[in-house]
Amino acid sequence: MSVRQSIWRWVILANAFALAVSTIPARAQAPDTVTLIVRAATVIDGTGAVRRNTDVVVRGGRITELRPARGKADIDLGTRVLAPGLIDTHVHLGWYITEKQRLHQGDDGDTEQTAILNVAGNAQRMLQAGFTTVQSVGGLEDKVVRDAINRGVLAGPRVLTSLGSLNENTGSPDSIRAAVRGFRERGADVIKIFASKSIRDGGVQTMTQEQLDAACGEAKRLGLRSIVHAHAASAAKAAVRAGCTQVDHGVLVDDEALQMMAKAGTFFEPQCELVSRNYLDHKEWFRGIGNYNDEGFAATERSLGLRKELVKRYLAVPKLKVVYGTDAVAGAHGQNARDLACRVRQNGEKALDAITSATSLSAESLGLGASIGRVAVGYQADLVAFDGDPRTDATAFMRVSFVMKQGVVYRYPPAFSGPPRRYP
Ligand SMILES: [Zn+2]
Repeated sequence: MSVRQSIWRWVILANAFALAVSTIPARAQAPDTVTLIVRAATVIDGTGAVRRNTDVVVRGGRITELRPARGKADIDLGTRVLAPGLIDTHVHLGWYITEKQRLHQGDDGDTEQTAILNVAGNAQRMLQAGFTTVQSVGGLEDKVVRDAINRGVLAGPRVLTSLGSLNENTGSPDSIRAAVRGFRERGADVIKIFASKSIRDGGVQTMTQEQLDAACGEAKRLGLRSIVHAHAASAAKAAVRAGCTQVDHGVLVDDEALQMMAKAGTFFEPQCELVSRNYLDHKEWFRGIGNYNDEGFAATERSLGLRKELVKRYLAVPKLKVVYGTDAVAGAHGQNARDLACRVRQNGEKALDAITSATSLSAESLGLGASIGRVAVGYQADLVAFDGDPRTDATAFMRVSFVMKQGVVYRYPPAFSGPPRRYP
């Protein structure tokens, strides 16, 4: 077989894997023997720089060269805009909507096989939407899916997961430290900590400073990152003081908390609209479960306004590292780019800055800043292309027509036929 034939065979195979119906042994990473030249009129590099008419040379799953376009390309993306694979630092991989159109609960009759298939479907959907890396602040069910993706059994993004979470009820500082060690032993990539209530319950601080010191301190000692759910300003400040890696949400944070994060280098992960809209537009999926009631939905509605008001304040804080995290819960997987569009359209953020946040900066927050999140020589060949230019049309974020992860193509433009499939 000629090299060109083998390239096409391999591109076609990768697409077959994306459909997850192939029985041919999968490859999680492209073979070293094949060089692929990916050409695009516009290449956004993930740090704010833009190149024109560029060939991205990919070999062995990595980018080996960037050069002015010349000769024949293997994949010519024409006028599409190429960018690094997108990163969502906050998803819930295991959440899904059942056949009965309800949020999956442990006692709803779904078998374990059904649940895992739905988790795998979430992973596949996010990859197809251009997210080549996701961090799931999730549950034990993430592990089998993460590991299957790594082995090449399943098409999906690179998954980092907490495999569970800690909260105020985890107990004394000693029991918290033991719990952190337990997560590490089970294979967690990150420690997830709930330091405040949900916004539906007012978002007040729940964990003490001592508890947070124990959680984030033990994580750091073991070389793990810690990501803290915190709405109240006091909870965010306690997380910063405890040396935690990242503060999520922060709907109620004050300017002092934002300044503290900037000074300490704590990553901040606010959401724009996807998570709130997903609840409000599909109340029937959730109503009656836990705090998903009229009061909870009203609080979610109010949080949209608070999130909007927060933007002006956090954009005004120099050196604050704002990463990208959607909090994609059941029903939202595959729409992860919606907050990119929201950040540009509603918040007035520059598209290039939003892309930097969702690529190189988010990669840095995951401790992967030297290997993913940039279109640069030596980086993993994680690439996406938008149909349209997000710098002039924010809806282009939702029109991803090409996805490559570690040099393997999972989505190819001819297969593109419209916006991401609605789910469920
Ligand atoms: Zn969450």
